[in-house]
Amino acid sequence: MTDTGKVDIVVVGSVALDTIETPVAKRENLLGGSVSYACGAASFFARPGMVGVAGSDFPAEHIQCYRDLGIDIRGLQQEEGKTFRWSGVYEEDMNNRRTLSTELNVFAGFKPSLPAEYRTSPYLFLANIAPELQLHVLGEVQNARFVVADTMDLWINTARPALEEVMKRVDMIAVNDSEARLLTGEKNTISAARAILKMGPKYVALKKGEHGALLFHAGGVLIIPAYPVEDVRDPTGAGDAFAGGFIGALALSGSTDPSDIAEAMLRGSVLASFAVEAFSLDRLRTLTRAELDARVAEFRKIIV
Ligand code: AMP
Repeated sequence: MTDTGKVDIVVVGSVALDTIETPVAKRENLLGGSVSYACGAASFFARPGMVGVAGSDFPAEHIQCYRDLGIDIRGLQQEEGKTFRWSGVYEEDMNNRRTLSTELNVFAGFKPSLPAEYRTSPYLFLANIAPELQLHVLGEVQNARFVVADTMDLWINTARPALEEVMKRVDMIAVNDSEARLLTGEKNTISAARAILKMGPKYVALKKGEHGALLFHAGGVLIIPAYPVEDVRDPTGAGDAFAGGFIGALALSGSTDPSDIAEAMLRGSVLASFAVEAFSLDRLRTLTRAELDARVAEFRKIIV
């Protein structure tokens, strides 16, 4: 591995080979996983370092994709065995998806370990992995300026005490409506988000899929729309691209003022809009900085 120097952001999560069926097409063995999408999106603004595990079957072309995007892969472990595989199918409106199969493979024994150069990274995104592993990573980083965590219903149901500990130690947690309800028992998602704020994080990002996100903080709430995309081909990874774009933009700004957080969320929204225009990381791979800046500018204009 030829990567050297420090990274601006560390992202910890899954590396996957996905088989996905949307109303547009069915595609097999695609490059996926939360770290792939999040690092891909973050790479437009800052240098992300990836922490994950791939199997010995992981294609060299995917490693090349990471490199082409400028992702530091010193934290990518490669183990003997098969890569984590996930397969899912989307309904006609693309809002709901059903998991068809999950094969953990080498991901079952994943023990994140941060290279020395990653430990002083000022920004950290703990993507959707077991909260015990998220806690382990939190113990390995020193003085991070801003930490975002993602989670899912599985961990809320099976690892609540560890997840509650994570929430006390991060700046922002990202949840969707059903996760917010499950975490708090509140039916109303606004009440749920406010209840999550009381559990520890300074910010709660309530993800609303194609309708954007709400950002709750002690001072109130901000509404972040989604950039309207007509030709959605594969929504997989939208949440991770949003979070990656967000933390990348935050790292670029070097600030954690609420106005810079709002601006970073807007950029996260734009990265997510590009990610869903193609399967896998295909659109992020071809995306140019000029296209990205043009869409950010257009997005600002169409927000009332
Ligand atoms: P998102 O659409 O943002 O939820 O992210 C989708 C990515 O998460 C896909 O590329 C999957 O490979 C990955 N994924 C699916 N299920 C899991 C799981 N249980 N743990 C970790 N990653 C997963």
